[in-house]
Amino acid sequence: MGQYMGLSISFDHSYLNLPDKMYQKVKPTPVESPQWVVFNQSLAKELELDDLSLGSDQGLELLAGNHIPDGCQSIAQAYAGHQFGHFTMLGDGRAILLGEQQTAKGGRCDIQLKGAGKTPYSRGGDGRATLGPMLREYLISEAMHALGVPTNRSLAVVMTGETVMREKPLPGAILTRVAVSHIRVGTFQYVRQYGTTDDLRILADYTIDRHFPEIKQQTNIYLEMFKQIVTRQAHLIVKWDLLGFVHGVMNTDNMTVSGETIDYGPCAFIDVYDPAIVFSSIDQHGRYAYNQQKRVAVWNLARLAEALLPLIEIESDDAIKDLEAILHKFSEDYQDAWSKGMRAKLGLFTQQAGDDKLIKDLLTLMTTFKADYTDTFRALTLSDFNSQQWFVLDDFKQWYHRWQERVQYQTQSLEQIKQHMKKHNPSVIPRNFRVEQALNAAVEEQDFLPFNKLLNVLLNPYAYTDEQKIYVELPPITGQAYRTYCGT
Ligand code: AMP
Ligand code: MG
Repeated sequence: MGQYMGLSISFDHSYLNLPDKMYQKVKPTPVESPQWVVFNQSLAKELELDDLSLGSDQGLELLAGNHIPDGCQSIAQAYAGHQFGHFTMLGDGRAILLGEQQTAKGGRCDIQLKGAGKTPYSRGGDGRATLGPMLREYLISEAMHALGVPTNRSLAVVMTGETVMREKPLPGAILTRVAVSHIRVGTFQYVRQYGTTDDLRILADYTIDRHFPEIKQQTNIYLEMFKQIVTRQAHLIVKWDLLGFVHGVMNTDNMTVSGETIDYGPCAFIDVYDPAIVFSSIDQHGRYAYNQQKRVAVWNLARLAEALLPLIEIESDDAIKDLEAILHKFSEDYQDAWSKGMRAKLGLFTQQAGDDKLIKDLLTLMTTFKADYTDTFRALTLSDFNSQQWFVLDDFKQWYHRWQERVQYQTQSLEQIKQHMKKHNPSVIPRNFRVEQALNAAVEEQDFLPFNKLLNVLLNPYAYTDEQKIYVELPPITGQAYRTYCGT
């Protein structure tokens, strides 16, 4: 238990029990004049970190990296990763793990400062982050959580009072990131590349203890761990795809083994439906396009399988065959969960022959008529077809008629069907143009009101309330593709 100026902090440091090549001890670099920007009270409460609250000087100094409690041994984690297909040594270049918060309920979460200064893994970078991208990560990660997607969370953003040089001088900021762990596919790749088989086993045992304790009694625990990771990733990618979320930089270092979404750099939500859509400015070949996410996840998991091979060979006479069999299950898990999710979006409670075709035909029409993804499902949910012009076309009307026949054939009442659809079709998502408006006001004018208002509606995305109405509006037609950049 560390005691810091009245804040009682009880960070644990279980990661320090791993081989010391897995991390470097490093302290955050103090900043000039920290200021609060946003603090997540409800998450603080959940984590039993209530006394860090907004307004407290001690909390601010802690989350700016200016003072860390006695006994708190902060580290930067080592990892490697395939970035756009190329293997590289990476590590936390600008993130510093303060420690793990343990709660009375038995939870354990990493508390990490992103943008807290240089580490031995900074590779020429400045170790800093800027306000816009940190607010963007806060907003989208919290929106994803509210949408029901496993994700790392955001506890706070503070400004550092320092200027950070990018293409132009920008206000510096630090995000406090909370994750069930930061163990990545790339963490295993790092150990496979630079460690011993014993190191690999220690990391795998640690991962099992932390994320899959229920498999400890099984015979082939490492194979089972791989299976669990594959299943979690399949379900995660289904959730992204059903919501129209494009991660944008699915490098193996940006894929957790816990199944949480991590690394909100160039991500975005689809407005106009286009299966091959790409937002990230650096993804020139569409490697991480919307319709590639499931394929890339399998590719990344194959890299994990390679990293685990020495452990699996001890368990199995035919390690490669066993790993491949698990990997093949990804597509099956994905397809089942995706079809089920799509049926729910269309108010269908059970599966019938013809459902997959009904879904496919809708998506084909949406592609042809450049439909807005979220708004189309919202319109179907509310039976309100004033928002998009293609709803008046015969093609839509014919599909709508088929859908109505199928929906009404069910035993549930129309009201029950509508409620079911409301649970699976968000009314609001972080619309790209709204996110940009909110971030511009914050960065250019220090006006945080648009950000806070947007955040507030995004915390109840399935609520269908009147106050959400303006956030439901479709983006203005600009004729220009939305572009995102790796978070800097
Ligand atoms: P990302 O694209 O966010 O996954 O980052 C890839 C790698 O670059 C990670 O190792 C980051 O820690 C590192 N990195 C990104 N920005 C900076 C920065 N400003 N200073 C140091 N390292 C950075
Ligand atoms: Mg990353």
